[in-house]
Amino acid sequence: MSIHEECGVFGVISPKPADVAGIVYCGLYSLQHRGQESCGIVVNDDGLFTSHKDLGLVGEVFSNDVLASFPQGTMAVGHTRYGTTGASNRSNCQPIEVNHQKGRMAIAHNGNLSNAAELRSRLELSGAIFHTTSDTEIIAYIVTRERLHSDSIEEAVSRAMDTLEGAYSLVLMSPQKVICARDPFGFRPLCYGMTDDGTYIIASESCAVKAVGARFIRDVEPGEIIIFSKDGVVSRKEHCGKKEKRFCIFEYIYFARPDSVIDGISVHEARQRAGKVLADIHPVEADIVVGVPDSGLDAAIGYSIGSGIPYGIGLIKNKYIGRTFIAPDHRLDQVKIKLSAIEEVIKGRRVVLIDDSIVRGTTSGRLVSLIRDAGAKEVHFRVTAPPFMYPCYYGTDIDSQEHLIACHHSVPEIASIIGADSLGYLPIEYLKELSPGQGYCSACFDGVYPAGRPAYTGMNRFEDRISER
Ligand code: SF4
Repeated sequence: MSIHEECGVFGVISPKPADVAGIVYCGLYSLQHRGQESCGIVVNDDGLFTSHKDLGLVGEVFSNDVLASFPQGTMAVGHTRYGTTGASNRSNCQPIEVNHQKGRMAIAHNGNLSNAAELRSRLELSGAIFHTTSDTEIIAYIVTRERLHSDSIEEAVSRAMDTLEGAYSLVLMSPQKVICARDPFGFRPLCYGMTDDGTYIIASESCAVKAVGARFIRDVEPGEIIIFSKDGVVSRKEHCGKKEKRFCIFEYIYFARPDSVIDGISVHEARQRAGKVLADIHPVEADIVVGVPDSGLDAAIGYSIGSGIPYGIGLIKNKYIGRTFIAPDHRLDQVKIKLSAIEEVIKGRRVVLIDDSIVRGTTSGRLVSLIRDAGAKEVHFRVTAPPFMYPCYYGTDIDSQEHLIACHHSVPEIASIIGADSLGYLPIEYLKELSPGQGYCSACFDGVYPAGRPAYTGMNRFEDRISER
């Protein structure tokens, strides 16, 4: 698996000055799976902002000394990033901070705008100067421009949402408020909760709300803006219901943590259901079901329940390796560094191997080899997603059809390429089993883009040479 997720956002507002940086730090740790390139925290101490952002994991960027250097405050926002647009450099670290005519603002964003290039070009033609190449600065610019003619920051956010297209879950901090907003399609998750002492927590996933000791309250609705301040919590819904909900179905398959509940659906249970469907649709005579850690494990349990074939822990993951690990010596097999097979479980057995997706096929082939090398008699590969056929423009790096194996080969050909005895994908019509009763985006599987395609694509679209544009 070599797909990367987008980002994780986190916000906190406390009734009295507290170590809000420490709370954000713990929240970002729980959202580390959503982005491992860079992270940042901005603390608001009575209108004064203090920030620290850098490339690296949360535990690397925020040493004890860095955390101790933050003042106490009543509000803070944080971000953990995997860049799906814009280069991986310090200037693109979030939250982005801006000083504008009516005050300060810090903003953290998850998703990609589908009209980013047009918006940026329009802003640049009217004199705007950008310091980063990420979509987030475009949002910050539009909100601050709207703020000039609005009575409040939330009104500016609402007006900005008239202009923004695509995927965005935002947490934004002004001197006196923390505001969160989710795009009208609801592509990316966003929720909030509260601790016993009245501190509100906003996070990309409920696992982060629970991690800091807060009680989950609810998901932010698609199109909803929620304003948290010392006066309480206010919801604005003028953008709700304008679009049909299109939550990213791949969040349930791969991106989100299994202990999160998103829009009322447990990620763990959704993956188990996908495994049960695979057992029904692609049955096979086998001795053991093995999941590829992490996101294949829940589905493997589902396949085992559905098929009656025992579940076994046949693959162990190196706990200290992140999703973005790249071996310095390319002759080394990355899969072998990340995962090892337990021979005692695998040897002499017919194995059903469950993974979340096949992108280029290289990793899948190495996984099959790993299981075969451990002595498996047969390896039957089952995938909890349909074949990837199209790129994603809404905040992930499922990028080019050129590299998607399913665009160039049939299922039996892919089985042969990866060395599996059989191969079965989750049929596209069964995606609804993961998200019962709710609309979802499945554009990377069916090419139906709810928020349209950007006119100009490419991860570093604001960094290309003139001749490449
Ligand atoms: Fe998610 Fe795929 Fe839609 Fe992208 S295209 S938002 S990965 S379902």
